[in-house]
Amino acid sequence: MSTFHSTRSSDEAFTSKQAIRKGIADDGGLFVTDALGETKIDISDLAGKSYQQIALTVLSVLLDDYTEEELSQCIAEAYGSQWSDERITPVKPLGNDFIMELFNGPTCAFKDVALQILPRLMARTTPADGDCDEKIMIVTATSGDTGKAALAGFADAQGTGITVFYPQGKVSRVQELQMTTQQGSNVNVCAVDGNFDDAQSTVKRIFGDRDLASRLEADAHVRLSSANSINVGRLVPQVVYYFSAYAQLLEQQVINVGDQVDFVVPTGNFGNVLAGYYAKLLGLPVRQLVVASDRNNVLFDFLTTGTYNSKRPFFETTSPSMDILVSSNLERMLYYMSERDPRMITYLMNDLAEWGTYEVPPEMLMEIRKVFATGWADEDQVREMIADCWDRNHYVIDPHTACGYFVMQQMPADPQVPRVLLSTASPYKFPRVVNEALGLKADGTDFECMDELHAKSGTPIPQMLRNLENAEVRFRDCVEVSDMGHYVEECADRL
Ligand SMILES: *Cc1c(COP(=O)(O)O)cnc(C)c1O
Repeated sequence: MSTFHSTRSSDEAFTSKQAIRKGIADDGGLFVTDALGETKIDISDLAGKSYQQIALTVLSVLLDDYTEEELSQCIAEAYGSQWSDERITPVKPLGNDFIMELFNGPTCAFKDVALQILPRLMARTTPADGDCDEKIMIVTATSGDTGKAALAGFADAQGTGITVFYPQGKVSRVQELQMTTQQGSNVNVCAVDGNFDDAQSTVKRIFGDRDLASRLEADAHVRLSSANSINVGRLVPQVVYYFSAYAQLLEQQVINVGDQVDFVVPTGNFGNVLAGYYAKLLGLPVRQLVVASDRNNVLFDFLTTGTYNSKRPFFETTSPSMDILVSSNLERMLYYMSERDPRMITYLMNDLAEWGTYEVPPEMLMEIRKVFATGWADEDQVREMIADCWDRNHYVIDPHTACGYFVMQQMPADPQVPRVLLSTASPYKFPRVVNEALGLKADGTDFECMDELHAKSGTPIPQMLRNLENAEVRFRDCVEVSDMGHYVEECADRL
């Protein structure tokens, strides 16, 4: 059986179920497995397989302490009729390139791919200490997309509850309504009088509060956990769509078995693109993974210089889900690229914690650059690309996808190697920016912007977004930052 250990130490071994339940290692490292790459996935029979069949093959290799029946159940529940396309992540032509839509899930964002299945995987774990009544309370702070996708995934999930905090007045109207209208008996949504950083750092403090933890355990049998993208249970399901893309290109007779493919990946926390690296290690013929950033281009600088420097100004852009200065999942890539050296990762991460910066050796950077190419787009370029993609292809992209589109346009195309751009959000989640870029009417409410975009582009509006205008608001709480811990405790008592 493959076991997991921290990127910063290989002393203690965990099953994948334990790793998923814990989320993060006690030393602050992320869970990795040294078995990654030992078993290759057979790509010769991918064509014709459904997304669910591919998911079972991939998840069986990486989460091998789940039974086949458990995985099949999780997959059937997570990738069912709540998706608006039966291929789950359909690949479509885009000029001479291809685009893979990751946003056909229930909240119209790429996070659904992972957050639809994580709760199901978590429900099939059991507490380490044998307290079978123990429940898990997911606590998360969100700047927009993650909160809704996590709520949708965990709503009414067995043995769990979820509490989401968002900064009052700092998320879009659509995003706020997506959260405050969430159904489910185990969900809690609360605005915070502060900005995202205040909410985020307070959630981290709540996780570190041992008194609170023991009170919750004793009084309510509740353990706090995070749905952050560092969880193995979020990362591994994302490996599946890379294999699915390959299967679809085989079916469309764009490639033959064994041909190489490039992927262009809008990235923030490095989770989306790291999954592609896992796919490559599992035998998928990936030539290059192109890391696309927005104006917060810390990854571009790292991949071109070898120095990661988080001490820099933070920009609020039109692609908020990529506005990140510390890309947590990069630590896993560094682990594999350092020839799996936990001591080196410990040094690097200590430097990051102490100085806000670290530097990798030149040989390591060379190895990294064999796999990862990179680029970034500023705000003007994002708007230009939304218009350019519409003019050339009659396809509307959102601002996150536009960062990737720009970077793809900058790269020389190789007719021998197809390129797949990963599209991470429906343009209808960001209708105002998209309308501005396309020269459409962009005043009025978000819903008027959606209607205008629909009328002028002829593309369907996801009903889930359009219906928000008249949906019942269930949550109106707003707390001071200092009261967030207390709020979590109340929610835990009700669980
Ligand atoms: C989360 C997100 C991304 C970035 O994904 P990472 O896993 O952080 O790399 C890109 N686009 C959208 C719309 C997202 O929600």
